[in-house]
Amino acid sequence: MSLGLPLVATNGHVVPLTTRIPPYFLNTDHRQRCLAQLRSKHTGLEKYIYLNGLKERDPNLFYEVLLGNMLEIIPILYTPTVGDACSNYSHIWRRPEGLYVSIEHKGHIRQVLHTWPTGLASRIAVVTDGSRILGLGDLGANGLPISIGKLDLYIAGAGIKPTSAVPICLDLGTNTEKFLEDPLYIGVRRKRPATAEMDEFMKEFMEAMKETFPQLLVQFEDFSTDNAFRYLEMFKTQYRCFNDDIQGTGSVVLSGFLNSARLASSATGTPLSEQRILFFGAGSAGIGVAKQLTSFFTLQGMSEDEARKRIYTVDSKGLITADRKGLQEHKIYFARTDYDGPALTSLIDIIQYVKPTALLGLSTIRNAFTEDVVRLMASLNARPIIFPLSNPVSLCEVDYSDAIKWTNGTVIFASGSPYKAVKFEGKVYEPGQGNNMYIFPGIGLGTILSEARHVTDAMVEQASIALAGSLTDEEESSELVYPRLARIRDISANIALAVIRAAQTDNVDENVLFRNLTDEALLDYIKAKQWQPCSAHSYPHL
Ligand code: NAP
Ligand code: MN
Repeated sequence: MSLGLPLVATNGHVVPLTTRIPPYFLNTDHRQRCLAQLRSKHTGLEKYIYLNGLKERDPNLFYEVLLGNMLEIIPILYTPTVGDACSNYSHIWRRPEGLYVSIEHKGHIRQVLHTWPTGLASRIAVVTDGSRILGLGDLGANGLPISIGKLDLYIAGAGIKPTSAVPICLDLGTNTEKFLEDPLYIGVRRKRPATAEMDEFMKEFMEAMKETFPQLLVQFEDFSTDNAFRYLEMFKTQYRCFNDDIQGTGSVVLSGFLNSARLASSATGTPLSEQRILFFGAGSAGIGVAKQLTSFFTLQGMSEDEARKRIYTVDSKGLITADRKGLQEHKIYFARTDYDGPALTSLIDIIQYVKPTALLGLSTIRNAFTEDVVRLMASLNARPIIFPLSNPVSLCEVDYSDAIKWTNGTVIFASGSPYKAVKFEGKVYEPGQGNNMYIFPGIGLGTILSEARHVTDAMVEQASIALAGSLTDEEESSELVYPRLARIRDISANIALAVIRAAQTDNVDENVLFRNLTDEALLDYIKAKQWQPCSAHSYPHL
Protein backbone atom coordinates (compact mmCIF):
# COMPACT_ATOMS: atom_id res chain seq x y z
CA MET A 1 0.00 0.00 0.00
CA SER A 2 1.54 3.30 -1.02
CA LEU A 3 1.00 6.16 1.36
CA GLY A 4 2.40 8.86 -0.88
CA LEU A 5 5.39 11.02 -0.02
CA PRO A 6 6.06 11.52 3.68
CA LEU A 7 6.06 15.00 5.15
CA VAL A 8 9.32 16.58 6.12
CA ALA A 9 8.91 18.83 9.14
CA THR A 10 10.87 22.08 9.49
CA ASN A 11 13.34 20.41 11.86
CA GLY A 12 14.19 17.91 9.08
CA HIS A 13 12.31 15.09 10.76
CA VAL A 14 10.54 12.66 8.43
CA VAL A 15 6.90 12.41 9.49
CA PRO A 16 5.32 9.17 8.27
CA LEU A 17 1.83 9.62 6.87
CA THR A 18 0.48 6.76 8.86
CA THR A 19 -0.62 6.38 12.39
CA ARG A 20 0.67 2.83 12.68
CA ILE A 21 4.35 3.82 12.75
CA PRO A 22 5.24 5.80 15.84
CA PRO A 23 6.44 9.30 14.87
CA TYR A 24 10.10 8.89 15.85
CA PHE A 25 10.42 5.14 15.22
CA LEU A 26 12.33 5.61 11.98
CA ASN A 27 14.91 7.80 13.71
CA THR A 28 15.81 5.04 16.11
CA ASP A 29 18.28 2.21 15.57
CA HIS A 30 16.23 -0.90 14.86
CA ARG A 31 19.26 -3.16 15.02
CA GLN A 32 20.06 -2.03 18.55
CA ARG A 33 16.44 -2.59 19.54
CA CYS A 34 16.54 -6.15 18.17
CA LEU A 35 19.81 -6.87 19.93
CA ALA A 36 18.40 -5.60 23.22
CA GLN A 37 15.30 -7.77 22.75
CA LEU A 38 17.48 -10.75 21.88
CA ARG A 39 19.73 -10.27 24.88
CA SER A 40 16.76 -10.01 27.23
CA LYS A 41 15.91 -13.65 26.54
CA HIS A 42 17.30 -16.03 29.10
CA THR A 43 17.75 -19.33 27.29
CA GLY A 44 19.27 -20.24 23.96
CA LEU A 45 15.96 -21.68 22.83
CA GLU A 46 14.09 -18.44 23.61
CA LYS A 47 16.71 -16.51 21.64
CA TYR A 48 16.28 -18.93 18.74
CA ILE A 49 12.50 -18.46 18.77
CA TYR A 50 12.92 -14.68 18.94
CA LEU A 51 15.27 -14.64 15.93
CA ASN A 52 12.95 -16.92 14.01
CA GLY A 53 10.10 -14.46 14.57
CA LEU A 54 12.29 -11.52 13.56
CA LYS A 55 13.19 -13.28 10.31
CA GLU A 56 9.50 -13.74 9.53
CA ARG A 57 8.61 -10.11 10.33
CA ASP A 58 11.58 -8.44 8.67
CA PRO A 59 14.15 -10.60 6.85
CA ASN A 60 16.34 -7.64 5.88
CA LEU A 61 16.63 -6.51 9.47
CA PHE A 62 17.25 -10.09 10.61
CA TYR A 63 20.18 -10.52 8.20
CA GLU A 64 21.58 -7.09 9.03
CA VAL A 65 21.60 -7.97 12.71
CA LEU A 66 23.14 -11.36 11.93
CA LEU A 67 25.89 -9.91 9.71
CA GLY A 68 26.78 -7.26 12.26
CA ASN A 69 26.92 -9.67 15.21
CA MET A 70 28.00 -13.01 13.81
CA LEU A 71 30.03 -14.21 16.78
CA GLU A 72 27.02 -13.69 19.04
CA ILE A 73 24.27 -14.98 16.74
CA ILE A 74 25.79 -17.90 14.81
CA PRO A 75 25.92 -20.09 17.94
CA ILE A 76 22.14 -19.55 18.25
CA LEU A 77 21.15 -20.21 14.64
CA TYR A 78 23.69 -22.95 14.33
CA THR A 79 25.58 -25.18 16.72
CA PRO A 80 25.08 -25.39 19.67
CA THR A 81 21.58 -23.86 20.11
CA VAL A 82 20.15 -25.19 16.85
CA GLY A 83 20.57 -28.58 18.52
CA ASP A 84 18.00 -27.56 21.17
CA ALA A 85 15.77 -26.13 18.46
CA CYS A 86 15.84 -29.46 16.60
CA SER A 87 15.32 -31.59 19.70
CA ASN A 88 12.26 -29.48 20.57
CA TYR A 89 11.08 -28.56 17.09
CA SER A 90 7.71 -30.32 17.28
CA HIS A 91 6.99 -28.26 20.40
CA ILE A 92 8.30 -24.85 19.30
CA TRP A 93 6.87 -25.02 15.76
CA ARG A 94 5.42 -21.63 14.78
CA ARG A 95 4.98 -21.49 11.01
CA PRO A 96 5.85 -23.31 7.80
CA GLU A 97 9.44 -22.40 6.87
CA GLY A 98 10.77 -25.29 4.85
CA LEU A 99 9.87 -28.06 2.48
CA TYR A 100 8.91 -31.46 3.89
CA VAL A 101 9.08 -34.46 1.60
CA SER A 102 7.65 -37.53 3.28
CA ILE A 103 8.19 -41.21 2.62
CA GLU A 104 4.43 -41.26 2.02
CA HIS A 105 5.00 -38.93 -0.97
CA LYS A 106 6.96 -41.66 -2.76
CA GLY A 107 5.77 -41.80 -6.37
CA HIS A 108 4.56 -38.16 -6.15
CA ILE A 109 7.68 -36.26 -5.10
CA ARG A 110 7.68 -34.05 -8.20
CA GLN A 111 4.23 -32.71 -7.29
CA VAL A 112 5.37 -31.90 -3.76
CA LEU A 113 8.43 -30.00 -4.99
CA HIS A 114 6.27 -27.96 -7.35
CA THR A 115 4.47 -26.48 -4.35
CA TRP A 116 7.62 -24.58 -3.24
CA PRO A 117 6.79 -20.88 -3.73
CA THR A 118 10.04 -19.63 -5.31
CA GLY A 119 10.14 -22.40 -7.96
CA LEU A 120 12.71 -21.77 -10.68
CA ALA A 121 14.42 -19.00 -8.71
CA SER A 122 15.69 -21.66 -6.28
CA ARG A 123 19.48 -22.06 -6.33
CA ILE A 124 20.47 -23.98 -3.22
CA ALA A 125 18.80 -26.57 -1.02
CA VAL A 126 20.13 -27.95 2.22
CA VAL A 127 18.62 -31.40 2.67
CA THR A 128 18.64 -33.47 5.84
CA ASP A 129 16.83 -36.69 6.68
CA GLY A 130 17.17 -35.91 10.38
CA SER A 131 18.91 -39.20 11.06
CA ARG A 132 22.09 -37.85 12.72
CA ILE A 133 21.56 -34.26 13.74
CA LEU A 134 24.84 -32.89 15.17
CA GLY A 135 25.79 -35.41 17.83
CA LEU A 136 22.15 -35.76 18.93
CA GLY A 137 21.16 -38.84 16.98
CA ASP A 138 17.95 -39.57 15.07
CA LEU A 139 15.58 -36.60 15.44
CA GLY A 140 13.34 -37.52 12.51
CA ALA A 141 11.18 -34.69 11.19
CA ASN A 142 12.56 -32.37 13.87
CA GLY A 143 15.70 -31.95 11.74
CA LEU A 144 14.47 -29.00 9.67
CA PRO A 145 16.17 -26.22 11.72
CA ILE A 146 19.58 -27.65 10.77
CA SER A 147 18.80 -26.99 7.09
CA ILE A 148 17.41 -23.55 7.88
CA GLY A 149 20.42 -22.61 10.03
CA LYS A 150 22.90 -23.70 7.41
CA LEU A 151 21.11 -21.68 4.73
CA ASP A 152 21.18 -18.62 6.99
CA LEU A 153 24.95 -19.00 7.04
CA TYR A 154 25.07 -19.26 3.23
CA ILE A 155 23.05 -16.05 3.08
CA ALA A 156 25.12 -14.20 5.69
CA GLY A 157 28.50 -15.67 4.73
CA ALA A 158 28.37 -15.64 0.95
CA GLY A 159 25.48 -13.34 0.12
CA ILE A 160 23.26 -16.04 -1.34
CA LYS A 161 19.82 -14.50 -1.96
CA PRO A 162 17.30 -15.57 0.74
CA THR A 163 14.59 -16.26 -1.86
CA SER A 164 16.87 -18.75 -3.65
CA ALA A 165 17.37 -20.90 -0.53
CA VAL A 166 15.27 -24.04 0.05
CA PRO A 167 15.49 -25.77 3.44
CA ILE A 168 14.36 -29.39 3.13
CA CYS A 169 13.65 -32.10 5.65
CA LEU A 170 13.01 -35.60 4.36
CA ASP A 171 10.44 -37.13 6.68
CA LEU A 172 11.27 -40.82 6.50
CA GLY A 173 10.23 -41.86 9.98
CA THR A 174 12.41 -42.12 13.06
CA ASN A 175 13.87 -44.90 15.14
CA THR A 176 13.69 -42.73 18.27
CA GLU A 177 10.81 -44.15 20.34
CA LYS A 178 10.35 -40.95 22.36
CA PHE A 179 9.23 -39.03 19.27
CA LEU A 180 6.93 -41.76 18.02
CA GLU A 181 5.14 -41.60 21.37
CA ASP A 182 4.99 -37.79 21.53
CA PRO A 183 1.47 -36.59 20.60
CA LEU A 184 2.96 -33.32 19.27
CA TYR A 185 5.57 -35.02 17.02
CA ILE A 186 5.21 -33.49 13.53
CA GLY A 187 6.63 -36.38 11.51
CA VAL A 188 5.26 -39.59 10.06
CA ARG A 189 4.77 -42.19 12.80
CA ARG A 190 6.85 -45.08 11.58
CA LYS A 191 10.34 -46.53 11.83
CA ARG A 192 12.91 -45.61 9.18
CA PRO A 193 12.74 -47.58 5.92
CA ALA A 194 15.12 -50.38 5.00
CA THR A 195 17.96 -49.58 2.60
CA ALA A 196 16.17 -50.64 -0.61
CA GLU A 197 13.11 -48.50 0.09
CA MET A 198 15.24 -45.53 1.12
CA ASP A 199 17.39 -45.84 -2.03
CA GLU A 200 14.28 -45.80 -4.22
CA PHE A 201 13.04 -42.74 -2.40
CA MET A 202 16.38 -40.91 -2.70
CA LYS A 203 16.69 -41.67 -6.40
CA GLU A 204 13.20 -40.37 -7.11
CA PHE A 205 13.88 -37.33 -4.92
CA MET A 206 17.13 -36.36 -6.66
CA GLU A 207 15.66 -36.81 -10.11
CA ALA A 208 12.61 -34.76 -9.21
CA MET A 209 14.83 -32.04 -7.71
CA LYS A 210 16.79 -31.72 -10.93
CA GLU A 211 13.65 -31.53 -13.03
CA THR A 212 11.84 -29.07 -10.80
CA PHE A 213 14.80 -26.84 -9.95
CA PRO A 214 17.28 -27.17 -12.84
CA GLN A 215 19.64 -24.54 -11.40
CA LEU A 216 19.76 -25.99 -7.92
CA LEU A 217 22.75 -27.11 -5.85
CA VAL A 218 21.89 -29.77 -3.26
CA GLN A 219 23.86 -29.86 -0.04
CA PHE A 220 23.34 -33.04 2.03
CA GLU A 221 23.43 -32.46 5.76
CA ASP A 222 23.46 -34.71 8.82
CA PHE A 223 22.57 -38.02 7.20
CA SER A 224 23.69 -41.03 9.24
CA THR A 225 27.29 -41.91 8.43
CA ASP A 226 26.78 -44.89 6.12
CA ASN A 227 24.08 -43.10 4.12
CA ALA A 228 26.11 -39.90 3.97
CA PHE A 229 28.93 -41.74 2.17
CA ARG A 230 26.63 -43.89 0.06
CA TYR A 231 24.48 -41.10 -1.33
CA LEU A 232 27.46 -38.87 -1.96
CA GLU A 233 29.07 -41.66 -4.02
CA MET A 234 25.79 -42.47 -5.74
CA PHE A 235 24.95 -38.91 -6.76
CA LYS A 236 28.09 -36.81 -6.92
CA THR A 237 28.84 -37.31 -10.59
CA GLN A 238 25.18 -37.35 -11.58
CA TYR A 239 23.83 -34.22 -9.91
CA ARG A 240 25.05 -30.86 -8.68
CA CYS A 241 25.50 -31.83 -5.03
CA PHE A 242 27.93 -32.18 -2.15
CA ASN A 243 27.97 -33.26 1.47
CA ASP A 244 29.16 -30.67 3.94
CA ASP A 245 29.73 -33.11 6.80
CA ILE A 246 32.20 -35.01 4.64
CA GLN A 247 33.58 -32.56 2.08
CA GLY A 248 33.09 -29.22 3.87
CA THR A 249 34.64 -30.57 7.05
CA GLY A 250 37.49 -32.12 5.07
CA SER A 251 38.13 -28.88 3.30
CA VAL A 252 38.05 -26.61 6.35
CA VAL A 253 40.25 -28.89 8.43
CA LEU A 254 42.76 -29.33 5.58
CA SER A 255 42.98 -25.56 5.38
CA GLY A 256 43.69 -25.18 9.11
CA PHE A 257 46.09 -28.09 8.98
CA LEU A 258 48.08 -26.47 6.15
CA ASN A 259 48.53 -23.27 8.14
CA SER A 260 49.35 -25.27 11.28
CA ALA A 261 51.92 -27.42 9.47
CA ARG A 262 53.53 -24.25 8.11
CA LEU A 263 53.72 -22.79 11.64
CA ALA A 264 55.06 -26.04 13.12
CA SER A 265 57.55 -26.44 10.33
CA SER A 266 58.99 -22.98 10.93
CA ALA A 267 59.92 -24.29 14.41
CA THR A 268 60.94 -27.83 13.48
CA GLY A 269 61.58 -27.93 9.73
CA THR A 270 59.33 -31.00 9.37
CA PRO A 271 58.08 -31.08 5.77
CA LEU A 272 54.49 -31.96 4.89
CA SER A 273 55.64 -35.33 3.58
CA GLU A 274 56.81 -36.34 7.07
CA GLN A 275 53.66 -35.43 8.96
CA ARG A 276 51.96 -38.28 10.79
CA ILE A 277 48.31 -37.50 11.43
CA LEU A 278 46.32 -39.41 14.00
CA PHE A 279 42.54 -39.29 13.69
CA PHE A 280 40.72 -40.03 16.92
CA GLY A 281 37.24 -40.81 15.54
CA ALA A 282 36.59 -42.45 12.18
CA GLY A 283 32.99 -41.49 11.37
CA SER A 284 31.82 -39.43 8.39
CA ALA A 285 33.73 -36.37 9.61
CA GLY A 286 36.98 -38.18 10.52
CA ILE A 287 37.17 -40.20 7.31
CA GLY A 288 36.05 -37.19 5.22
CA VAL A 289 38.91 -35.11 6.61
CA ALA A 290 41.43 -37.94 6.20
CA LYS A 291 40.43 -38.32 2.54
CA GLN A 292 40.78 -34.61 1.93
CA LEU A 293 44.25 -34.58 3.44
CA THR A 294 45.45 -37.53 1.36
CA SER A 295 43.99 -36.03 -1.78
CA PHE A 296 45.96 -32.86 -1.06
CA PHE A 297 49.16 -34.82 -0.41
CA THR A 298 48.83 -36.49 -3.81
CA LEU A 299 48.34 -33.08 -5.39
CA GLN A 300 51.71 -32.22 -3.83
CA GLY A 301 53.34 -35.11 -5.66
CA MET A 302 53.11 -37.99 -3.18
CA SER A 303 51.89 -41.33 -4.48
CA GLU A 304 48.44 -42.39 -3.24
CA ASP A 305 50.06 -45.04 -1.09
CA GLU A 306 52.57 -42.65 0.46
CA ALA A 307 49.76 -40.18 1.16
CA ARG A 308 47.58 -42.83 2.79
CA LYS A 309 50.47 -43.95 5.00
CA ARG A 310 50.56 -40.46 6.62
CA ILE A 311 47.15 -41.23 8.19
CA TYR A 312 46.28 -43.36 11.23
CA THR A 313 42.65 -43.79 12.29
CA VAL A 314 41.17 -44.76 15.66
CA ASP A 315 37.57 -45.72 16.46
CA SER A 316 35.86 -46.95 19.61
CA LYS A 317 37.77 -50.24 19.34
CA GLY A 318 41.23 -48.66 19.01
CA LEU A 319 43.74 -48.28 16.18
CA ILE A 320 42.04 -49.42 12.99
CA THR A 321 43.99 -52.24 11.39
CA ALA A 322 43.18 -54.19 8.25
CA ASP A 323 43.09 -57.53 10.04
CA ARG A 324 40.14 -56.50 12.21
CA LYS A 325 37.01 -58.59 11.51
CA GLY A 326 33.81 -56.95 10.22
CA LEU A 327 35.37 -53.57 9.51
CA GLN A 328 32.79 -51.08 8.20
CA GLU A 329 33.16 -50.13 4.56
CA HIS A 330 34.25 -46.52 5.15
CA LYS A 331 37.06 -47.55 7.51
CA ILE A 332 38.81 -49.99 5.17
CA TYR A 333 40.74 -47.48 3.08
CA PHE A 334 42.82 -46.14 6.00
CA ALA A 335 43.09 -49.41 7.96
CA ARG A 336 46.78 -50.03 8.68
CA THR A 337 48.40 -53.03 7.10
CA ASP A 338 51.80 -52.43 8.73
CA TYR A 339 50.90 -53.20 12.35
CA ASP A 340 50.59 -56.79 13.48
CA GLY A 341 50.99 -56.56 17.27
CA PRO A 342 48.18 -56.98 19.79
CA ALA A 343 45.25 -54.57 19.28
CA LEU A 344 46.15 -51.07 20.48
CA THR A 345 43.18 -49.68 22.39
CA SER A 346 44.46 -46.92 24.68
CA LEU A 347 45.14 -43.53 23.13
CA ILE A 348 48.42 -43.20 25.04
CA ASP A 349 49.67 -46.54 23.63
CA ILE A 350 48.56 -45.53 20.16
CA ILE A 351 50.36 -42.17 20.37
CA GLN A 352 53.49 -43.88 21.65
CA TYR A 353 53.38 -46.23 18.66
CA VAL A 354 52.45 -43.66 15.96
CA LYS A 355 54.36 -40.61 17.29
CA PRO A 356 51.94 -38.27 15.53
CA THR A 357 52.79 -34.69 14.61
CA ALA A 358 49.08 -33.91 14.62
CA LEU A 359 46.18 -35.27 16.68
CA LEU A 360 42.68 -34.63 15.33
CA GLY A 361 39.59 -35.39 17.43
CA LEU A 362 36.31 -36.23 15.68
CA SER A 363 35.07 -38.73 18.22
CA THR A 364 32.33 -36.91 20.19
CA ILE A 365 34.17 -37.99 23.37
CA ARG A 366 34.44 -35.16 25.90
CA ASN A 367 37.91 -34.75 27.43
CA ALA A 368 39.34 -37.72 25.50
CA PHE A 369 42.57 -35.72 25.16
CA THR A 370 43.60 -36.00 28.79
CA GLU A 371 46.52 -34.23 30.43
CA ASP A 372 48.68 -37.32 29.80
CA VAL A 373 47.73 -37.36 26.13
CA VAL A 374 48.41 -33.67 25.59
CA ARG A 375 51.69 -33.74 27.52
CA LEU A 376 52.81 -36.75 25.51
CA MET A 377 52.06 -34.87 22.26
CA ALA A 378 54.11 -31.92 23.58
CA SER A 379 57.01 -34.17 24.50
CA LEU A 380 57.06 -35.59 20.95
CA ASN A 381 56.68 -32.25 19.13
CA ALA A 382 58.09 -28.73 19.61
CA ARG A 383 54.75 -27.44 18.23
CA PRO A 384 52.12 -30.17 18.61
CA ILE A 385 49.09 -29.75 16.36
CA ILE A 386 45.95 -30.61 18.33
CA PHE A 387 42.50 -30.14 16.83
CA PRO A 388 39.64 -31.26 19.13
CA LEU A 389 36.91 -30.89 16.53
CA SER A 390 33.88 -32.55 18.15
CA ASN A 391 30.86 -30.28 18.59
CA PRO A 392 29.32 -28.91 20.68
CA VAL A 393 31.72 -27.90 23.49
CA SER A 394 30.11 -30.54 25.72
CA LEU A 395 31.61 -33.19 23.40
CA CYS A 396 34.94 -31.48 22.73
CA GLU A 397 38.06 -33.60 23.30
CA VAL A 398 39.98 -30.91 25.22
CA ASP A 399 39.40 -27.33 26.35
CA TYR A 400 41.65 -24.63 24.96
CA SER A 401 42.91 -23.39 28.34
CA ASP A 402 44.01 -26.93 29.28
CA ALA A 403 45.73 -27.48 25.93
CA ILE A 404 47.68 -24.23 26.39
CA LYS A 405 48.59 -25.02 30.00
CA TRP A 406 49.66 -28.62 29.38
CA THR A 407 51.85 -27.69 26.40
CA ASN A 408 53.28 -24.51 27.89
CA GLY A 409 51.68 -22.52 25.09
CA THR A 410 53.33 -24.48 22.27
CA VAL A 411 50.12 -26.10 20.99
CA ILE A 412 48.75 -25.15 17.57
CA PHE A 413 45.05 -25.46 18.21
CA ALA A 414 41.77 -25.41 16.37
CA SER A 415 38.48 -26.65 17.78
CA GLY A 416 35.07 -27.28 16.27
CA SER A 417 33.26 -25.05 18.77
CA PRO A 418 34.32 -21.53 19.66
CA TYR A 419 36.70 -20.89 22.57
CA LYS A 420 37.72 -17.54 24.01
CA ALA A 421 41.32 -16.31 23.96
CA VAL A 422 43.40 -17.51 26.92
CA LYS A 423 46.00 -15.65 28.97
CA PHE A 424 48.87 -17.86 30.07
CA GLU A 425 52.00 -16.61 31.82
CA GLY A 426 51.39 -13.07 30.65
CA LYS A 427 50.74 -13.89 26.98
CA VAL A 428 47.37 -13.94 25.21
CA TYR A 429 46.71 -16.94 22.94
CA GLU A 430 43.93 -17.01 20.34
CA PRO A 431 42.33 -20.33 19.36
CA GLY A 432 41.37 -21.30 15.84
CA GLN A 433 37.87 -22.48 15.05
CA GLY A 434 37.62 -25.09 12.29
CA ASN A 435 34.14 -23.96 11.46
CA ASN A 436 32.68 -25.33 8.20
CA MET A 437 31.15 -21.92 7.78
CA TYR A 438 34.46 -20.71 6.38
CA ILE A 439 34.10 -23.06 3.42
CA PHE A 440 30.59 -24.08 2.40
CA PRO A 441 29.21 -20.60 1.60
CA GLY A 442 32.06 -20.04 -0.87
CA ILE A 443 31.69 -23.51 -2.40
CA GLY A 444 27.96 -22.84 -2.79
CA LEU A 445 28.42 -19.41 -4.35
CA GLY A 446 31.15 -20.58 -6.76
CA THR A 447 29.14 -23.63 -7.82
CA ILE A 448 25.96 -21.62 -8.38
CA LEU A 449 27.65 -18.83 -10.35
CA SER A 450 29.68 -21.16 -12.57
CA GLU A 451 26.61 -23.39 -13.02
CA ALA A 452 28.90 -26.35 -12.47
CA ARG A 453 27.30 -29.65 -13.45
CA HIS A 454 28.92 -31.37 -10.45
CA VAL A 455 30.97 -30.37 -7.45
CA THR A 456 34.30 -32.00 -8.25
CA ASP A 457 36.98 -32.99 -5.73
CA ALA A 458 39.25 -30.30 -7.18
CA MET A 459 36.62 -27.62 -6.52
CA VAL A 460 36.51 -28.62 -2.85
CA GLU A 461 40.29 -28.82 -2.64
CA GLN A 462 40.85 -25.43 -4.23
CA ALA A 463 38.33 -23.95 -1.79
CA SER A 464 40.50 -25.25 1.02
CA ILE A 465 43.71 -23.87 -0.45
CA ALA A 466 42.06 -20.49 -1.05
CA LEU A 467 40.94 -20.37 2.59
CA ALA A 468 44.43 -21.29 3.83
CA GLY A 469 45.85 -18.48 1.73
CA SER A 470 43.41 -15.86 2.92
CA LEU A 471 45.14 -14.83 6.18
CA THR A 472 46.07 -11.16 6.44
CA ASP A 473 49.56 -10.16 7.64
CA GLU A 474 48.09 -9.29 11.02
CA GLU A 475 46.39 -12.70 11.26
CA GLU A 476 49.59 -14.48 10.28
CA SER A 477 51.68 -12.63 12.81
CA SER A 478 49.10 -13.50 15.49
CA GLU A 479 49.73 -17.16 14.51
CA LEU A 480 46.08 -17.69 13.56
CA VAL A 481 45.29 -20.78 11.52
CA TYR A 482 41.97 -19.40 10.26
CA PRO A 483 41.07 -15.81 9.34
CA ARG A 484 38.76 -13.73 11.50
CA LEU A 485 35.11 -14.57 10.87
CA ALA A 486 34.15 -10.90 10.51
CA ARG A 487 35.79 -10.97 7.04
CA ILE A 488 33.60 -13.87 5.91
CA ARG A 489 32.05 -12.13 2.88
CA ASP A 490 35.44 -11.34 1.31
CA ILE A 491 36.80 -14.77 2.19
CA SER A 492 33.74 -16.43 0.60
CA ALA A 493 34.20 -14.36 -2.56
CA ASN A 494 37.85 -15.49 -2.82
CA ILE A 495 36.83 -19.10 -2.25
CA ALA A 496 34.10 -18.78 -4.89
CA LEU A 497 36.72 -17.53 -7.35
CA ALA A 498 38.94 -20.56 -6.67
CA VAL A 499 35.92 -22.88 -6.98
CA ILE A 500 34.92 -21.37 -10.34
CA ARG A 501 38.46 -21.70 -11.70
CA ALA A 502 38.58 -25.35 -10.60
CA ALA A 503 35.20 -25.98 -12.25
CA GLN A 504 36.65 -24.56 -15.47
CA THR A 505 39.77 -26.72 -15.26
CA ASP A 506 37.56 -29.77 -14.74
CA ASN A 507 35.30 -28.69 -17.59
CA VAL A 508 32.11 -28.86 -15.56
CA ASP A 509 31.23 -25.15 -15.78
CA GLU A 510 28.15 -24.46 -17.86
CA ASN A 511 28.53 -20.71 -17.56
CA VAL A 512 31.55 -20.46 -19.84
CA LEU A 513 31.44 -16.65 -20.00
CA PHE A 514 33.63 -16.48 -16.90
CA ARG A 515 36.47 -18.19 -18.73
CA ASN A 516 37.36 -14.94 -20.46
CA LEU A 517 37.45 -12.81 -17.33
CA THR A 518 40.64 -11.97 -15.44
CA ASP A 519 40.71 -13.00 -11.76
CA GLU A 520 40.25 -9.38 -10.80
CA ALA A 521 37.20 -8.87 -13.00
CA LEU A 522 35.67 -12.17 -11.89
CA LEU A 523 36.19 -11.32 -8.22
CA ASP A 524 34.47 -7.97 -8.77
CA TYR A 525 31.59 -9.77 -10.46
CA ILE A 526 31.27 -12.25 -7.58
CA LYS A 527 31.23 -9.46 -5.01
CA ALA A 528 28.62 -7.54 -6.98
CA LYS A 529 26.44 -10.67 -6.95
CA GLN A 530 26.52 -10.97 -3.15
CA TRP A 531 23.11 -10.08 -1.77
CA GLN A 532 23.15 -7.30 0.82
CA PRO A 533 20.40 -6.96 3.39
CA CYS A 534 18.96 -3.47 3.68
CA SER A 535 16.38 -2.86 6.37
CA ALA A 536 15.45 0.46 4.72
CA HIS A 537 13.56 -1.80 2.28
CA SER A 538 11.30 -2.79 5.13
CA TYR A 539 9.42 0.50 4.83
CA PRO A 540 9.28 1.00 1.06
CA HIS A 541 6.44 3.53 1.23
CA LEU A 542 8.55 6.04 3.15
P1 NAP B 1 30.22 -40.29 13.99
O1 NAP B 1 29.95 -40.74 12.60
O2 NAP B 1 29.34 -40.69 15.11
O3 NAP B 1 31.74 -40.74 14.32
C1 NAP B 1 32.30 -40.75 15.60
C2 NAP B 1 33.56 -41.59 15.54
O4 NAP B 1 34.19 -41.55 16.81
C3 NAP B 1 33.31 -43.07 15.22
O5 NAP B 1 34.32 -43.57 14.38
C4 NAP B 1 33.39 -43.71 16.59
O6 NAP B 1 33.83 -45.06 16.60
C5 NAP B 1 34.47 -42.87 17.22
N1 NAP B 1 34.44 -43.02 18.67
C6 NAP B 1 33.36 -43.05 19.48
N2 NAP B 1 33.74 -43.29 20.74
C7 NAP B 1 35.08 -43.43 20.70
C8 NAP B 1 36.04 -43.71 21.70
N3 NAP B 1 35.70 -43.91 22.96
N4 NAP B 1 37.33 -43.80 21.32
C9 NAP B 1 37.67 -43.60 20.04
N5 NAP B 1 36.82 -43.33 19.06
C10 NAP B 1 35.52 -43.25 19.40
O7 NAP B 1 30.27 -38.71 14.03
P2 NAP B 1 30.79 -37.71 12.90
O8 NAP B 1 29.68 -37.29 12.02
O9 NAP B 1 31.99 -38.26 12.25
O10 NAP B 1 31.16 -36.46 13.80
C11 NAP B 1 32.12 -36.56 14.82
C12 NAP B 1 32.26 -35.22 15.52
O11 NAP B 1 32.84 -34.29 14.63
C13 NAP B 1 30.93 -34.60 15.98
O12 NAP B 1 31.05 -34.15 17.31
C14 NAP B 1 30.75 -33.43 15.07
O13 NAP B 1 30.12 -32.36 15.73
C15 NAP B 1 32.17 -33.08 14.75
N6 NAP B 1 32.27 -32.32 13.50
C16 NAP B 1 32.99 -31.17 13.54
C17 NAP B 1 33.11 -30.40 12.41
C18 NAP B 1 33.94 -29.16 12.46
O14 NAP B 1 34.46 -28.83 13.47
N7 NAP B 1 34.12 -28.43 11.42
C19 NAP B 1 32.48 -30.79 11.23
C20 NAP B 1 31.75 -31.98 11.21
C21 NAP B 1 31.66 -32.74 12.36
P3 NAP B 1 32.93 -46.27 16.02
O15 NAP B 1 33.04 -46.09 14.52
O16 NAP B 1 33.64 -47.47 16.50
O17 NAP B 1 31.56 -46.07 16.53
MN1 MN C 1 26.45 -31.39 9.90
